[in-house]
Formats: sequence, structure tokens, C-alpha cells
Amino acid sequence: MDHYDYLIVGAGLFGAVFAERAKNIGKKCLVVDRRDHIAGNVYTYERNGIHVHAYGPHIFHTNDNAVWEYVNQFTRFHNFKLGTIANYKGEIYSLPFNMYTFNRMWGVLAPEEAEKRIREQREAAGIKEPQNLEEQAISLVGTDIYEKLIKGYTEKQWGRSCRELPSFIIKRLPVRFTWDNNYFNALYQGVPVGGYTQMVKNMLEGIEVRLGVDYLTHKGELASLAEKVVYTGAIDAYFDYKLGALEYRSVRFETEELNKPNYQGNAVVNYTDKETPWTRIIEHKWFEFGKDAAGNDIPGTVISREYSAEWKPGIEPYYPVNDEKNGALYAEYKVLAEQEENVIFGGRLGEYRYYDMDQVIARALAVCGKELREGLV
Ligand code: UDP
Repeated sequence: MDHYDYLIVGAGLFGAVFAERAKNIGKKCLVVDRRDHIAGNVYTYERNGIHVHAYGPHIFHTNDNAVWEYVNQFTRFHNFKLGTIANYKGEIYSLPFNMYTFNRMWGVLAPEEAEKRIREQREAAGIKEPQNLEEQAISLVGTDIYEKLIKGYTEKQWGRSCRELPSFIIKRLPVRFTWDNNYFNALYQGVPVGGYTQMVKNMLEGIEVRLGVDYLTHKGELASLAEKVVYTGAIDAYFDYKLGALEYRSVRFETEELNKPNYQGNAVVNYTDKETPWTRIIEHKWFEFGKDAAGNDIPGTVISREYSAEWKPGIEPYYPVNDEKNGALYAEYKVLAEQEENVIFGGRLGEYRYYDMDQVIARALAVCGKELREGLV
């Protein structure tokens, strides 16, 4: 029977990077994934010439030179920059928060006028040290923006009050006093030419991959195939939820093909009121085609409405709920994970962290580097 140095559970970014690096120095790897496709939640598929982001919009962005150089070995990137639009009851605002947003909200033209408005609203709310997402948001952008662009969206997305959510979540979004609506503060940004699936496929070239294989139901026999296991699934599931279940948010998509070249004129439109049942609508073609002739030349378009839901067994977990309660439970699972001999836990689910793609890759490169230097295999 074949024997492997590493059995890698999960063909998402963490697993694919680890496998690629290990293979590169001659280690024999087997990658298994429960789903019938590679690439985890960055998976894209083609529909009428358009790459559909099956698990939500993924825009690669990083400030890390090493990560950028690494991914560029496996794909080229479209020069795409995300500028999101917020639709609040028919009023359109620019995101992330920048001078276009402040101008639309208050009619201000100068950066210091916008700063003054925010300062006044922060002071009126009496916030000194923000204790939760609501206070953090008001402190960063004031009450008006919080009420129209943050509260409804965040409470739909997380299914929790903004007062119960950790402030770091809102700090993901830049606040700029310039006329710049680039969603990310990143040196490098883009979307892979040919889709993310092709990028991951290129990483996994020459590595054995078995799809439709659920590691947890065949743990005994699969673990014995390799010296070590790299596990990127949910950490609580690995331990059969014995300390209790961690909470995750999930999302569901309603995807449809429309017989028109342009539905909303932008890749992402967020619906920030609380009544609209979806959080955002994605129009996939704009991730890869310019908004000039190239995009409009493709006759049809594919859109996805995104709905958030609490995770329950049987659906995919997307976001760890990194609040205090779940953080404490994760810390207990982490202790168990550290005692688990010959198993490395990694990725958004394995480490229960709201990682971006570049952070997952950086982490996989670091963990793999350390493992291959010090590992016993
Ligand atoms: N957010 C918001 N309004 C928006 C977009 C985002 O309040 O229109 C908040 C929301 O709490 C969200 C967080 O900002 O969870 C981070 O947004 P990001 O776009 O980074 O989320 P992701 O794309 O990972 O779902």
C-alpha cells in the first residue's frame, strides 16, 4: 500500500500551499477533500465564459512581497481593484469609507470637514475606548454612517447585535480622507486569470488528490497512510465537538444567469439596510472583464445574491465568530490540538481565524517552512 509523508485534509489554500511546498522538496503528499472539487471556498467555475465565485467574492490582495511572488508562480492576475457600492434604501454610497462617502452623506468637500463631523458624532456618543463593534464603528466614522452603512449590514451578516461583536471586524475596512474608493489598502491586488480553481490546480500539479473523501468518517484508515496529517477542517469537528460546538456564520447564494450584458455595473453591491434579505449582490463578470467594451461584449451576465445564516451541521462554515465566548472555547480546543501528535492544524477553520487569502498563504508557508526544517518526517 502507498505510504505518504503527509496526508493533507482539505484542498483549499492552506492545504494546497502546504502540499506544493512539501512536494517541492521531495515529500510525498496525498490531499483529500470532502467536497467534489478542489480550491475550498475560493473555488470558481465557468458559466458562459464567466468565472463564477461559487462561495462569494474573492479578491486577492496583499502587502506581502513573498506571498505575491509565491502566487504569481501559479497564475497571472487581472488588474482588478475592488470598489464597492452600498445601496441604502436606494441611496448609493461609495465603500470603503472615503471622501465620496462623506460627501454623499453630509455634502462635505474638504477632508477636515469630514473629520470634524466624525469627531462631533463620536463625542456626542460619548465613546472613549470602544468596547464592541458598534462603539468602534461610531468612533471611526460617526453615527450617520454607522446607522446607514454598517448596522443593518453587519447585523444581517453576523446575526448578532453590533454591541456583541468584536471591534476588529470593522477595522478590516479602511477609512480614508481622500477620494480613493479602493476597498483594500494593498500594494498588490487582482483576480486570477482563468479563475482561482485553475490557480489551485496548478499548485497541486503532480500531487495525488482524492475528492469526495470525508477524513473524519475514515480517520483511522486515512491517518495510517501517512507519517503526519495536515488538517484544515473545523477544529471542533475534528474533536467530535467534545468540548461543545464553536459558532460559525455561513452564507448561501442564489445564482442566476441574466440575458443582458450589464446588471448592476459593478462587481459587488452591498445592501446595507436591515430589510433587504440579502447582504450583497455579486456580478461575477466584472471581476475579470474591464467595464469597457470587453465586459459588455459578453452578452449575458451571472449574478449571485448572498444571504447569511447561522452555521448548522450539513452546510459549509465560512466565518468563525471570533467573540469572547467562542475565543475561550477555541483556546481549549487549541490545547487539545497541541497534544495531538503528528497533526498540524491550519487555515480559517483549523485555526478558527478570520484569515484573508494572503494571510492563509503566509501562514501555510511559515508553518510548512518550520515543519520541513524541524519536522521528523
Ligand atoms: N461591513 C459593513 N457594511 C458594509 C460592508 C462591510 O458594515 O457595507 C462590515 C461588516 O461588519 C463586515 C465587515 O465590515 O463583517 C468586514 O467586511 P468585509 O467586506 O471585509 O467582509 P467579507 O468580504 O470578508 O465578508
